[in-house]
Amino acid sequence: MIPADDALRIVLDRTKQLAPVRVPLASALGRVLRVAARADADSPPFDASAMDGYATQRADLGQPLRVIGEAQAGGAFTGSLKTGECVRIFTGAPVPAGADCVIKQEEVTREGDVIRVQALDRPTFIRRRGENRRTGDIVVPAGTTLGPAELAALAASGVTQPEVTAAPRCVHLLTGNELVAPERTPAGAQIRDSNSALIAALLARHGAELTGHARVGDTLAAARTAVETFASHEVLLISGGASVGDHDFARPLLKVLGYELHFEEINLRPGRPLVFASRGTQYAFALPGNPVSHWVTFHLFVAPLLRKLQTGLDAAPPRLTGRLAPGSKFPPPDARRTYWPCRATIVNGGHELTTLPLASSGDSSGLVGANALLPLPANSLDPAQTVEFIPCP
Ligand code: AMP
Ligand code: MG
Repeated sequence: MIPADDALRIVLDRTKQLAPVRVPLASALGRVLRVAARADADSPPFDASAMDGYATQRADLGQPLRVIGEAQAGGAFTGSLKTGECVRIFTGAPVPAGADCVIKQEEVTREGDVIRVQALDRPTFIRRRGENRRTGDIVVPAGTTLGPAELAALAASGVTQPEVTAAPRCVHLLTGNELVAPERTPAGAQIRDSNSALIAALLARHGAELTGHARVGDTLAAARTAVETFASHEVLLISGGASVGDHDFARPLLKVLGYELHFEEINLRPGRPLVFASRGTQYAFALPGNPVSHWVTFHLFVAPLLRKLQTGLDAAPPRLTGRLAPGSKFPPPDARRTYWPCRATIVNGGHELTTLPLASSGDSSGLVGANALLPLPANSLDPAQTVEFIPCP
């Protein structure tokens, strides 16, 4: 049995960032950008009006101005302004030559082709060429996880095939003769499989792709065939069978598949029988079957592995600080290092942690609302103390 921190170090030390690939923008949400994107032109590309109104010369304000033409977004007024003239202009249109300000239309009275405006001190309402970004400036730095804002910035810079890390391809092998698909009604000693839904959702949340899934009962031969039939993948997750019972075959399976086992048991509650193995640049976990152990070990070990595959970041899950909600109850101290699922909410501008009604590590409905892991100290928790927790989105 090794300490949980040592186990994470072993996982991260083994994990190599995936090679970059080019994908269309439409497939790039959530991917990690590998090469900085730069502006291919000044932004804005020309002096542009920031308002609907009239472009003119500031020195002319206070006298009647003759409207000599129009500039709308996507078009331009090609002439040039002289004293006593103005051009009707709309937001985003190029400011005509000779104009040095735009007057909002709300501040203008217009009769026929003549406008009047008071000569107040007012902003110019011109967005200057290059004021957002100059050609060659970095628009999205390498290493950024692409969200909606970043995709918009790439589109604006003409980067339509960004170089990113592909989603890690993961396969999920479900062991356990007792399990039936969620759509079936369990009979006798059967129970419904909740781990497949959990794993599929956790993988999606962490940028990974579930490329294969098989339910294999508790026979090694069926499991071996299933894994060998999966298309190529980087991560193999085995649910259940990670321990040393007569019907637990995850470890022998990994060995016959040619994986090297790096640890088989960690000092962790819940989640002691966690196995980590690798075969070249493929990684495998056998996760203890209880749904709560699944949730905990995924966040503590699988999520950091997925993060390193995508970003190259070699770090333990980040932590935040918070307070315990009044009346929170935790399990008594244990010889094993305990990470307890909780719900973190914002109360009065700070994080507050509430315990969940977890009856046991087999209680998947007790996990409802879980979004944080609280490492429990070796002695009992002081309810007044500030605590560190791991956010688990
Ligand atoms: P195991 O790790 O295979 O010994 O399983 C530990 C416990 O978790 C047993 O009570 C299993 O029935 C339960 N379990 C295993 N897999 C699942 C699953 N996919 N969904 C719900 N419970 C499971
Ligand atoms: Mg089992």
